[in-house]
Parts: sequence; C-alpha cells; structure tokens
Amino acid sequence: MNAPLLPVAEARRLIVDDLTPIAVESVKLGEALGRILRADAAAQISHPPADVSAMDGYVVRCDDITNVPQILRVIGASAAGHPWRKSVNAGEAVRIFTGAYIPAGADAVVIQEDTSSTEGNVTINIKPKRGAYIRPAGQDFKAGETLLKAPHRLSARDIGLLAAMNIPRVPVARRPVVGVLSTGDEIVLPGDPIAEGQIASANGPGLCAFVAAHGGEPLHLGVVKDDPKALLRIAEQVRHLDLLVTSGGVSVGDHDVVKGALNSAGFKATFHKIAMRPGKPLLYGRLHDLPILGLPGNPVSALVCALLFLGPALARLQGLAGDAPAAATARLGAPLEANDSRADHLRATLTYKDGVPIATPFPTQDSGMLATLAKADVLILREPHASAAAAGDSVSIISLN
Ligand code: AMP
Ligand code: MG
Repeated sequence: MNAPLLPVAEARRLIVDDLTPIAVESVKLGEALGRILRADAAAQISHPPADVSAMDGYVVRCDDITNVPQILRVIGASAAGHPWRKSVNAGEAVRIFTGAYIPAGADAVVIQEDTSSTEGNVTINIKPKRGAYIRPAGQDFKAGETLLKAPHRLSARDIGLLAAMNIPRVPVARRPVVGVLSTGDEIVLPGDPIAEGQIASANGPGLCAFVAAHGGEPLHLGVVKDDPKALLRIAEQVRHLDLLVTSGGVSVGDHDVVKGALNSAGFKATFHKIAMRPGKPLLYGRLHDLPILGLPGNPVSALVCALLFLGPALARLQGLAGDAPAAATARLGAPLEANDSRADHLRATLTYKDGVPIATPFPTQDSGMLATLAKADVLILREPHASAAAAGDSVSIISLN
C-alpha cells in the first residue's frame, strides 16, 4: 500500500513556510505598479493642504446673507495655485475657483449657478449653509497619517494616493529572479526545427509569463535533455537564483530523471507527490540553498500547479502571506461524477444567467489539452472524495484571469 498523498493545502504551506521574503529596494512611483510595498507609507503633507473650495463660485460670509437676493462687493479672486491673501470683511465676497484657498473671514462658497454678477458686485440668490462647498484642510488625509500598510500589492489607485502624499519613491520587494528550465528529450523551443517525435515547449514560455505576471523576473533557461548530468550542470550554475522551477521528468518513468539527478547532488526533498489532479508528481525541496519546484511536464498540470503553488511561492518571496488563490462560488453548468482521493481542478467556462455565475466544465479534461486551459475562465475545485454533483449545485471556483 502506498503512503497517502500530501493534500494540496499542506503542500502549499510547506513551500511557503520554507521560503523567506527577499530584500527590499527603493523604486520610483513609475516603476511601483504591482510591486509589494514593504514598509508602511505615511503622508508627507496634508490633503487638502488648507481649506479649499470644492466648486467655482463666490466665497462669502454667511452672516451677510440674511435675506436673498443679497448684493455683495467683489474684492478679488482666489484661484487654485493663486490664493487671495487678504481677508473678507462684512459686505464683501471673493470670486473663487475649485481648489483655491478659502480666504480668512469667509465661511461658505456659493456656486456660480446660484449667483448673478454685475460690474464689481455679485448678487447671491440663495442662503448658504456655513461650510458649504468648502473642503476642510486635511479632509482627505493629514500629514503623518499612515495610509498604506505593508505588505501590500500596489495598484494604480495606490500609486495616485502615494503621489498625493508627496512620496516619490517607495520601498518594495526586489523582483524574485526565477529560473525556468524545461526537461525532456522531445522538447524544443518554439520556432526551432522540430524533428520526428519532438514537440514545442509550452511550459518554458508559459511559466516565464506566469512568473512575470506574479511580480517575478523570469530567467528562461531553455530545455535540457533527460540527462542527469546536464540537468545538474544547469542547477549548479543557477545557485544564486531566488527559485528554480523545472518542468517534466518528475514522475516515476524511466526517463524521469529530475529527482534522481538532484538527489545525487545532495537535494533535500520536502515532498514529491501530492493528492491532486492535474499533476500528481510535484517536487519541492532545496539543493544547497536553492529552492527548487519541480512541476509535472503535462502543460496543463504545469500551469495549474503554477497557479496553486508557484503563485503563493512568489507572493511569499515578495513578503506576502502566500495564501491559496481566492475561491468563489458558482452554480454547476453540467453534472459531475463523484471524485476519487485526489483534489480535482476542472477547466470550465464562466457565464452568467440572471446574474448568477455558472461554471461549466469542458467535457474532456486531459492534462495535455492546453487549448481548453487557455479558453477556460475558472477552475472548478473538487475536494477529494466529493460526491457526485448535479447541474445547478454550488461549487468552488478559482479565477484563471
Ligand atoms: P513528463 O512529466 O516529462 O513525463 O512529461 C509529461 C508530458 O508532458 C509528456 O507528454 C511531455 O512530452 C509533455 N511535456 C513535458 N515538458 C513539456 C514542455 N516543456 N512543453 C510541453 N509539453 C511538455
Ligand atoms: Mg519528460
């Protein structure tokens, strides 16, 4: 009897626990999108810096306007970037524009639409409320206030906020440098001559793109034959990387040389097989200090395992927790048979009927079929031993987009 296979969540935890966040570097805001902020960010200035107008109009003293219409003398103008520096006294108003400082003595803005102007005067046609259309100093945030907590993946909105906080550079995790090596006698790089029995490497370019999309810096190491010596030569050359990802050769066939080759050089495996489909063979461990993730060769298995394990590993290296991809729920679009002892991940489309998400699995789930992976919107998650499910039943999904 074989030992029970490692559950998916446990395998992910073992990987994430083995990795430690890498160094921090300072980058300009223009380079910070998608990077992981590694120190809390506190505002350098208040926003707005003073009481400012939220509209174009006239800034007045409420006490002057007991009855309307009320004529006031216009003594000047305050525009954004060009404050009016004198104060407003009884019977006076100042022309004001959005973003301009509120002059001393005034306490409300009357919008242009509620006034009529005559030479040197303005007629106020409504009774303003105190503070109307005035954005108080620091209404958005105050100098010294911590607005972004680390660790945090920076969005375009965050970048705008940091800029408003007058922060030109931020400390972020260095991009983890990840080597991607495909193994297999039959694998050639796309575009190279393909001899009989050979196929183009989907995994090399696909995994490099995955690494880049998850904040890493991919280093495409190309293809190595099913030759232990050649594999080890490359592994030794890349000992300085943050992570090495291999594809293929981790199963139990005669040509699956990855584990044996690494073992002969002192590799310490954390685990080798997990209870999931697609992709039972999955190897993780360290060769000296280099963490190595050995993905299965089948391209769907490789990319699904990347989503479940490489994504969290990259997150962890950048200082995040390395959680599982977020799951949501949908209704099943087609019935499913009972599951066996391995967690299953079914490629499915996601459509909406009356606002309800419906996940419909592709009828054939062979792990060599990359086109359905590209077409799929989600993976349907099936726990080990999940019972048969009918169309309309609720299922867990994770997004592929
Ligand atoms: P393996 O895990 O090496 O036994 O490979 C399993 C299957 O995946 C075989 O059909 C391989 O030809 C295929 N395969 C392995 N590596 C790649 C790759 N880089 N790109 C596309 N298919 C691959
Ligand atoms: Mg192979």
